Amino acid sequence: MQGFSEFSNKIKSFITKDTTVSNESVKVIIVIRILLLSVFLYFILNLALCWNVLDSNGRGLCVLFVGGIAVLFWMSYSLRAKTQAWVFSIGMLFFIWSNLKWFGWWIGVQHYLIVILILTFFVGYDQYHIKMIFAALITYMRIGLYYLFNDATPLYEIPSHMKDLLQILNTIAIFWCLSVISYVFSKSSREMESKLVKYNEQLEKEALTDNLTMLANRRKAKLYSADVLASGQHNNFSFCMCDIDFFKRVNDTWGHECGDLVLKRIAEIFKQEMKAPTLPCRWGGEEFLLLFPGCNGDEAYEQLVKIRDEIKAMVVEYEGNEIRITMTFGLTEHGFNSDIEATIQEADEKLYYGKNHGRDQIVF
Ligand code: GH3
Ligand code: MG
Ligand code: MG
Repeated sequence: MQGFSEFSNKIKSFITKDTTVSNESVKVIIVIRILLLSVFLYFILNLALCWNVLDSNGRGLCVLFVGGIAVLFWMSYSLRAKTQAWVFSIGMLFFIWSNLKWFGWWIGVQHYLIVILILTFFVGYDQYHIKMIFAALITYMRIGLYYLFNDATPLYEIPSHMKDLLQILNTIAIFWCLSVISYVFSKSSREMESKLVKYNEQLEKEALTDNLTMLANRRKAKLYSADVLASGQHNNFSFCMCDIDFFKRVNDTWGHECGDLVLKRIAEIFKQEMKAPTLPCRWGGEEFLLLFPGCNGDEAYEQLVKIRDEIKAMVVEYEGNEIRITMTFGLTEHGFNSDIEATIQEADEKLYYGKNHGRDQIVF
């Protein structure tokens, strides 16, 4: 069992190993390698079936094909994806042509043109007009081949059961190739899409978060308040603006870094005490806006008393010093006839009333 998993890992790295050329689409390279391996296997099988029918020229050409596929596989570790796709397509065209010539139209080898067509569209993302010209050329080629080989006598006469067998073999190989291309590229675009969605979510989160305290920022506070009001879910909505007392002294005495630490510790208390739908936000500097959807003033006041006491009791240790602080709070109920800005303004006025009347209090 372990031997098998080792073997499958080796095959996997053999196929997925990156090319030495930088900035190349590894997906295209993987697809081409899988296609080359599939065509290689198909060819060996085809050869085994037709070896007796072929003359020395045919056999020589077949050996050349098998060698060509091996060389192309080896080159996939150092060639550019686009070049590989071109070489692969030209090789396939040569293969289609010779098979039609040898065994005739009815073994279905012309359908490999579809594989080439699909591959063309997945290689690189630029130059769509060239891709369209190439698609037209392939279509033209397909029609041309029909007129050339439909009624032509094949070089090698093979019994009808062999023709059926080759037709089935070709159908399986072509459908397999198309499935491989579709699988790899649809998986890759799905992965890309989910990466973009995650990246977007991350960006959005960062744009709405204060990166020192990791609390919601002012933008988020406004959006959230507007959402709460728009939802119409709550009959009450209280706002509290609060500010650290004499915070400048903390910075001046122990340094800005210590001030930052105090801000973070306060934010932790807010996060711990305020569960959804209530939301603590950093309004700016050392000011915070606390949102209490679903709470009237008395209910918010009750929660604020606990928060205020915890902040007052908090001891921040910094370089052997013990720092204690207090905060002043301005609390107001949102009147549903007024707008958010006016409510915040009212909370702010209450906060400054508290600042002017002794600090360390909740003004309601
Ligand atoms: P008051 O009680 O009246 O609010 O006094 P105060 O000292 O807290 O107020 P003041 O507005 O005079 O000072 C606020 C200080 O907060 C000044 C500013 O340097 C500091 N501050 C603002 N943002 C930050 C920050 O992100 N980190 C640190 N460390 N300090 C900050
Ligand atoms: Mg202050
Ligand atoms: Mg302030």
